[in-house]
Amino acid sequence: MQYLLDYVLTNRGKYFTIANIGVVRPVEQEATRQPRRHKVKIKVSNGNAKIGEDTIIINMNSATDCPSRQSGLCQLDNPGKCYALKAERQYKDHFLKSGKFVTGCLTARRYQEQVWDNSTPDDIAFQLNHLVARGYRQLLDESYSKIKYIRFSESGDFKSQADVDKMSQIADMVTVPVYGYTARRDLDFTQISNNMIVCGSGFKASNEFKAVSKLTPGNLHCVGNCRLCNLCKISHGKTVEVLLH
Ligand code: SF4
Repeated sequence: MQYLLDYVLTNRGKYFTIANIGVVRPVEQEATRQPRRHKVKIKVSNGNAKIGEDTIIINMNSATDCPSRQSGLCQLDNPGKCYALKAERQYKDHFLKSGKFVTGCLTARRYQEQVWDNSTPDDIAFQLNHLVARGYRQLLDESYSKIKYIRFSESGDFKSQADVDKMSQIADMVTVPVYGYTARRDLDFTQISNNMIVCGSGFKASNEFKAVSKLTPGNLHCVGNCRLCNLCKISHGKTVEVLLH
């Protein structure tokens, strides 16, 4: 079915994906192949236990190659403790006993970066809208979860202002809110789409998201469960504190 739909959409000049590399999934051929201009397929993953199944995640790059960590803008005292980085170190490329190759987290995210860099905002928005309209297919029981949000940068960050502008263009074209976090205080978020919510890590963009060792009474506080909370998914201009752990 996927190939049939691929064929039909290809001949309309549009592409879509039935993707899931949030959990380890073999994409070795795609990962080593340079995406062709008209053959790219955006890869997304589904929300984890904290983020929730109503959210799909699009990464622009990996934690290993994170532009904020490399430029010293990461707000963690020890950037080596970044949980996205931990996953890339833990889930490596490997072979199963059957001989089947399984793509690791870092390889998959570097592939995501290639696709992001080589796709137009229209292509990406088209594919995201397809996923939102259809729902996200869960690997375990093959059910489809309803998608209410698109989250960016579970790993990595904006590489440049061009990435901010591209995500903003995508947000203008997709049917659900786009939200995420950034430590790039050196970039401009004043002109972003009304459908894009940027939580600045230690600075205010749409909102501020601040890691603290002690919560301040009167500020908003992260409850650590995005299934129950939408403080990062709406633009309110306030500071949301999260306890360091
Ligand atoms: S403040 Fe709410 S939406 Fe933001 S990370 Fe915490 S639980 Fe999730």
